Amino acid sequence: MSKPPLTLHLAAPRGFCAGVDRAIKIVEMALTKWGAPVYVRHEIVHNKYVVDDLRTKGAIFVEELDECPDDRPVIFSAHGVPKSVPAEATAREMIYVDATCPLVSKVHIEAERHHEAGLQIVMIGHDGHPETIGTMGQLPPGAVILVETEDDVARLEVRDASALAYVTQTTLSVDDTIGIVAALKARFPAIIGPHKEDICYATTNRQAAVKAMAPDCDAMLVVGAPNSSNSRRLVEVGARAGCEYAQLVQRADDIDWRSLTGVRSIGVTAGASAPEVLVNEVIAAIQDRYDVTINHVETAVENVEFKVPRVLRAPA
Ligand code: SF4
Repeated sequence: MSKPPLTLHLAAPRGFCAGVDRAIKIVEMALTKWGAPVYVRHEIVHNKYVVDDLRTKGAIFVEELDECPDDRPVIFSAHGVPKSVPAEATAREMIYVDATCPLVSKVHIEAERHHEAGLQIVMIGHDGHPETIGTMGQLPPGAVILVETEDDVARLEVRDASALAYVTQTTLSVDDTIGIVAALKARFPAIIGPHKEDICYATTNRQAAVKAMAPDCDAMLVVGAPNSSNSRRLVEVGARAGCEYAQLVQRADDIDWRSLTGVRSIGVTAGASAPEVLVNEVIAAIQDRYDVTINHVETAVENVEFKVPRVLRAPA
């Protein structure tokens, strides 16, 4: 039986960003340097495939530091941690390596700087996300107020409208954040913030590529995990930019083929924590069913790279 023709629009950039790449390298290098087991507080990046792979190499994933013994190294995830976590590790004389993405650390430093200048900080982010918890946890309780929507801004009660600053989570929707920042500036004209916002290059670039291809896609598959903020944003961006059906899939097995009945074009992209091997798996599954022509939709070229911490570069 001949396969139906299909155009597969493949977004670029997609998948791993420099922060995720570095975090995974940190765990692998820690295993080489200190041997197994190495403890990792929280999923190093939000991807089950990556976590399972590191688990087979000897990483043990825990949610809190009190689940780790004092005498084994522990890694903190790419999302960042509240200040209390390294403080506890230091008090227990543990070896720890902080895999917080440097672009998240930059937001931590910004928040601290504003706090030292006497400003109250508004953080635009998702309640309960580890990055938000980590950023808010750089400062004493109450120093940072979280807003998630423009409605939250309308309800916001601040200490002093003339002494305010804002920071953002790095993996937000670029378009939603523009609206929330505008609402903040309209209500609090003196508020200060970063030059644009703190959304990172990888989030921005992946969303831009999805926007560019969405109008040409009957359906879109975003490879990523349900707890990955930037993957979920890609699904929303695809749907808003004109693609009628956008689905988040962790692997090829998750593809809901029935929903794809009759489509003639599919867009494929991946969140910043999804490895290319899973993208290839999804492409192969599509090729099994369709006579595929691949169209590369490249809207940016990335060459960002972050160094691993010095402790891992030095001999054991
Ligand atoms: S998505 Fe952005 S902030 Fe998050 S790890 Fe990647 S580069 Fe860093």
